[in-house]
Amino acid sequence: MSTPLQQRLTALRASLPEGVELVAVSKFHPVEALREAYDAGQRVFGESHVQEMQEKRGQMPSDVEWHFIGHLQTNKVKYIVPYVSLIHAVDSVRLLHEIEKQAARCGRTVPCLLELHVADEATKYGFTIDEARSLLLDGTLAGLPHVKVRGLMCMATQTDNEAQIRREFAAAYALYGEVKAARFADDADFNLRSWGMSHDYRLAVEEGSNMVRVGTSIFGERTY
Ligand SMILES: *Cc1c(COP(=O)(O)O)cnc(C)c1O
Repeated sequence: MSTPLQQRLTALRASLPEGVELVAVSKFHPVEALREAYDAGQRVFGESHVQEMQEKRGQMPSDVEWHFIGHLQTNKVKYIVPYVSLIHAVDSVRLLHEIEKQAARCGRTVPCLLELHVADEATKYGFTIDEARSLLLDGTLAGLPHVKVRGLMCMATQTDNEAQIRREFAAAYALYGEVKAARFADDADFNLRSWGMSHDYRLAVEEGSNMVRVGTSIFGERTY
């Protein structure tokens, strides 16, 4: 017997094209909900608060892949670097340097995505398209051997205007294609495009996403 949560998860997974990874965004949901998802086969979970991720990790099986999807403060990098599978929202050069330092310290190379600011909203974090292009092409990354940039992440504007959402995702996809060709053509591990949440993941997939971060459509509304 599967639970309603498991049914939503299974239906969502079945609806995604092959090659699109589902990150189950479990922030603010209790560990029981994560276990239900785990029992339905989900292994990749996304969290946006360091302490919450640490606590849940201690209570979940060890084959879970923990993705950090929120804004990461430099002083908290050290807590997650030993185990995190992917840091989605790297939004400053300073943060890249701190990840490098902590990753070197524990002998890991940490997979990261650069967060692009493509939305209309002034409050969102991330690099502009031009900043990200420079950073990816100017050689900075060569000095960060324990950071592995695997692609790009973005969030679209919170709007019902589908054309606008598509335009924002398309801008991220265009940059991805450009830097892939210019600098990462021979790097099979530069291959991730993390965009799409509950309300816009279908559009995101149509606009080139291969990693969607979905919370509400699996776990229900969050109570903060
Ligand atoms: C919370 C969050 C999500 C999931 O949002 P839903 O609308 O619940 O699917 C995805 N990405 C990021 C960065 C988030 O913070």
